[in-house]
Formats: sequence, structure tokens, C-alpha cells
Amino acid sequence: MAHLTTTAHPYAFFEGKVVPVAEANVSIMTNALQYGTGIFSGIRGYYNAEGDFISIFRLEDHIKRFLQSFRIIGVKLEYDHKQLCEITIDLMKRNAPRTDTYIRPFGYAGSLNLSPNLERDSTFAFAEYMIPLGEYIPVDKGISVMVSSWRRVTDNTIPSRAKITGAYMNSALAKQEANRNGHEEAIFLNEAGSVVEGSAMNIFLVRDGVLITPAKYDDILEGITRRSIITLANDMGIPVEERTVDRSELYVADEAFFSGTGAQVSWISAIDHRPVGDGTRGPITTKLQEMFFRVARGQEKKYAKWCTKVAIASK
Ligand code: PMP
Repeated sequence: MAHLTTTAHPYAFFEGKVVPVAEANVSIMTNALQYGTGIFSGIRGYYNAEGDFISIFRLEDHIKRFLQSFRIIGVKLEYDHKQLCEITIDLMKRNAPRTDTYIRPFGYAGSLNLSPNLERDSTFAFAEYMIPLGEYIPVDKGISVMVSSWRRVTDNTIPSRAKITGAYMNSALAKQEANRNGHEEAIFLNEAGSVVEGSAMNIFLVRDGVLITPAKYDDILEGITRRSIITLANDMGIPVEERTVDRSELYVADEAFFSGTGAQVSWISAIDHRPVGDGTRGPITTKLQEMFFRVARGQEKKYAKWCTKVAIASK
């Protein structure tokens, strides 16, 4: 797997203002660093060279889910939906990247308190940075995945519906195991043994022309890309089922793919050493993948409302 760049765009939002990213630093004693008491989001901006603008994909929906995560854990943030959208757009203008960009809004227990205590850390600090990002996992080549021996965190352990930093130890363990076994990605089952998602992406299967994805009540993160794929499928007349998925359905699926802000739409060629379908990219995956990229890049008028255009000013 390609290593992701960690060279950020020059400016970050930190402690209430835009600063050079090198100045956006916290103490090693920071509660969030010690205990994973943070909430984050990941949003993509696609660069359009012809128009010289960035098209941010579903900014408002991402910020809405970001704020829902704070509601779930019962803490406050000093910024509301409108302000967070504005901060993001302003930071994008300031960074003025001429490349596809990943946006990372981040809320965290910024105190130096010794113990994890959300009552004491009841208002989280907010920061945001941006990095150039191409493919997070390959979208064209067909990836090999394994069912993880780790179980996905459940709603009553660390709520999987929220994007909680500490929960990503769970993702890291699954990814580590998959990579050590020669696979690109992992598929989580939940404690009930049902299919949930990848380490940081939702999963879709195709069986007999029907698009199937685990339901919202099966410990998934309610992905914005997942929701977009469901809408696109509905609009294309592809039947969709959101329901509990058995492990063995993975092995009889005709097609399978991941969806996510990082993953975009990346197709799966093998699961646990069994080829998915005939091991090539299937027709429904191809249709949805092509449509997804056109939509995300702001090239489909019908879905223009999902894209926030930010003009890149000459520096
Ligand atoms: N599941 C998990 C655990 C994730 O971290 C992500 C990435 N945010 C997703 C699914 C996909 O969600 P989205 O499409 O909103 O990026």
C-alpha cells in the first residue's frame, strides 16, 4: 500500500485562529492524546484544474455528523454548524491547494487533566488541518481483504456511530492483522458475528443484481459515502437492501466494494482467499464507481448540491 503523505498544506485552524501548521501543537499531556478523547471527521476536496476550484464533497453533511458525534458523547464544541463550514471554506481559501485535498476537522479534550473525565472536559477544543491526498487504498486494481479476528466496537462500548479517535485503535488492529497476512484491508464482524465494515470504510455486496449493505443498527459508522452510494443506486434503479449481512454471504457475493471518504469506491477482488465473483470488477460496481467519481468531482449537475465550490485565488 502506498504510504500516505503527512506533509500538510501550510495553514491550520488552531486555538481560534489560522496559524502556520508548524505552530498548531499541543502538549504531550493533552488528555485527548493520552486517552483518545477526541472526535474527528474526514472530508475530501477534489481539485478541478479547468475551473481552478476545489469541490468539497458533502461538507454540510460531514459537519452535521461531526456535531452528532459530540451529542453522542455528551460534550460541547464552541462552534456551530455554520461556523464550522465557514472555518473550513476559509481555511481552504487560505491554503489554496491545487491538488485533491483531505480535510481533517478535529475536536479534542485539550486539557492537561490526568484522567479521562468528560464531565471535567465538557467542552472540546477545535482544530483543523488539510493534506494532499490521492488514493488511500487502490480504487482500480481490486483489493484483497480478510475477515478480521478482531470484532468491531459496538454501540455500547465505544459508539460506532460516532467518529471517536480512541475507537481507531480497533481499526488499527484490524488493519495491522490484514497487512501482516498480505491483505490490503480487513472486514470487521460485530460481536453478533454479522458483517460490519472495513477498518475505515463501509462495505457493499452485490448478489443477483441487488446491492446489499449492513444496516445502521449493525455497529457501522453511518458513512456519508455509503449514503451517497445508496442514493445513486436508487436513482439508477438498482435495488438496495440495508440489512444484517452474514459472513458467508461475503463468499457467495457476485461483487463487493468499500465506500468511504478515504477509500472513495474501491472494489474488492478476493475475500479470505476466495475470489469475489469471477475476480474482476463487476458491472454494478463499475457503474456506481464511475458515477461516484463524476458526482464527487462536481461533474453531475443533478448532484451539484452535494458539492461546495471554493475558488483558488492566485497566491
Ligand atoms: N467506517 C469507518 C469506521 C470510518 O472511519 C469511515 C471513514 N469516515 C467510514 C466508515 C466511511 O465513512 P464516510 O463515507 O463518511 O467517510
